[in-house]
Amino acid sequence: MAEQKDKNGRRAKSLKTTDKKTAGTSAQNAAPKSKKETKPKKKSDLSRKKLVKQVGETLRKTYPNPSCALTHRSPFELLVATILSAQCTDKRVNQVTPELFRRFPDAQAFANADVGEIGEAIKSCGFYRSKALNISRASKTLVEKYGGQVPDDFQKLRELPGVGCKTANCVLGNAFGIASGFVVDTHVLRLSRKIGLSDETTPEKVEADLNSLFPKEEWIDASHRLILLGRQYCVARRPKCDVCPLNNCCLKRP
Ligand code: SF4
Repeated sequence: MAEQKDKNGRRAKSLKTTDKKTAGTSAQNAAPKSKKETKPKKKSDLSRKKLVKQVGETLRKTYPNPSCALTHRSPFELLVATILSAQCTDKRVNQVTPELFRRFPDAQAFANADVGEIGEAIKSCGFYRSKALNISRASKTLVEKYGGQVPDDFQKLRELPGVGCKTANCVLGNAFGIASGFVVDTHVLRLSRKIGLSDETTPEKVEADLNSLFPKEEWIDASHRLILLGRQYCVARRPKCDVCPLNNCCLKRP
């Protein structure tokens, strides 16, 4: 009996210490109780699972065969188009790329070109100076290290100038069929919070949430579906909630 008491006593003490350590290191528990809660309340894992199931099923019915909206004929063209799509519409990028790829058909051609010349050709996509520089530098790296080919490897892609997680995931998913993670663009970032799929505000953290919520085999198509919904219904300034297919399950958070 005495032995059991001692054991229980030690166990209780040990758990208390662990709790303290966890509370001190977890970002999720970082907000002090006394401070006014400004973040939306997190949904429980169970209700979020139900939400994900409903969202996934509805989006699969709404967009049964989604595909990449950026026109491309090769991994390299998709890489360049995705770099151009930052802060720009896919429609605009698709208007610019046919002539761009006629003038510069591959990585070698971009590597040889004058950066100013590339900039002129992509001017209407916005931020053209930095995009031209990134495309030029990325092309040079591809020529020097990979024989002008785009590597099908997340880390190698991320090391290219101008390539973030969104671009790497987009290229791997759509050019190679490799599901490396959700493509979190401005639509997916906005929608994930509105629907209630994530409480986070940065693309990296939202991507981590979505990757953990959806099965890996759905990452590529689910990214497209969220983007399509964002364009068609959940437009930033005036979401069309009345006719949105997710009307019944979306939390419609501001
Ligand atoms: S119901 Fe409204 S807020 Fe929710 S995804 Fe649809 S349009 Fe966006």
